Amino acid sequence: MQSSQLKFIKEKADILQVVKSLIPLTAKGYGKCPFHTEKSGSLKVESKKGIFKCFGCGASGDVIDFVMKYKSITYKEAFTWIADFYRIGDFKDQAKDFVPEPAKELPVSLIPKNIFIRSIRHYFHNNFYEWLNRHFAPESCFHAANQYFIGSSKHWNNATVFWQVDCDLSIRSGKIMLYNPETGKRIKEPYNHINWVHKVLDLPDFNLKQCFFGEHLLNGNNKMVCIVESEKTAIVASIVYPDQVWLASGSLVNLTAERCEVLKGREVILFPDVGAFPAWEEKAEYLNQVMPDTHFAVDQSLANYTQKGFDLCDYIIDNLNHFK
Ligand SMILES: [Zn+2]
Repeated sequence: MQSSQLKFIKEKADILQVVKSLIPLTAKGYGKCPFHTEKSGSLKVESKKGIFKCFGCGASGDVIDFVMKYKSITYKEAFTWIADFYRIGDFKDQAKDFVPEPAKELPVSLIPKNIFIRSIRHYFHNNFYEWLNRHFAPESCFHAANQYFIGSSKHWNNATVFWQVDCDLSIRSGKIMLYNPETGKRIKEPYNHINWVHKVLDLPDFNLKQCFFGEHLLNGNNKMVCIVESEKTAIVASIVYPDQVWLASGSLVNLTAERCEVLKGREVILFPDVGAFPAWEEKAEYLNQVMPDTHFAVDQSLANYTQKGFDLCDYIIDNLNHFK
């Protein structure tokens, strides 16, 4: 392929125009991602930058990448297809042969209830719960533990399980983590002490579909929802600010439109960790676009903090006297 041809494509091809000819897009360039199964649109096409990006599965690239991936063809074939698209104009006859196969949706796997119940029976051997009790009244801790189904695990001595229970009270899985009972920080040496219950149980062909931590607390109310990254922060914030439903997303990547469907119609406030504000603001803007019935906003209380990784939980613990 001649470099002049490549230059021609890069200059002439408008990714928005090309992608729009293949899948439906909104005026601002949002649409359902053809590279993973989803009900709402996580794909964003940016004409100015000449790129596409999926917030759901992470697929990204330029116009040639999109055509290659969408049609499962080589780089050269994609190039030729785009060249034809611009020269001929009547691309519809060619495009109709390329209907993408929808990805097969496997049934969501769940954790057996008896394993879940066994883990939430007591909190005597749980470093996280011990740390929580250093800062809050015993009845507040007990209430929070019951609300969020905080579990204990022997996978590591005194480890904690944060169960992901969805709105149907199905147990998607649980994250096992080990905390320092004095500092409340996660133990990351000599290795990061984090694992999944389904992995530890070695359940065959487990199809993990994560939900929000605390998602079941959405049932039976129409409260404002606050979303933080870490489970620990959601629990601590729920003790101090009980009028809202506090959920943890685990990470920004997990905050997809598909997962946010359970929030439909609500007022939602996002609480980024320090250093992550621009990315969360971009995500809020995107979610407002694709979910017009739901309102997402980013809380700005920590926007001017500079200590990287500092989050709402650190803020609350630092200011405990103020809340008491
Ligand atoms: Zn995708």
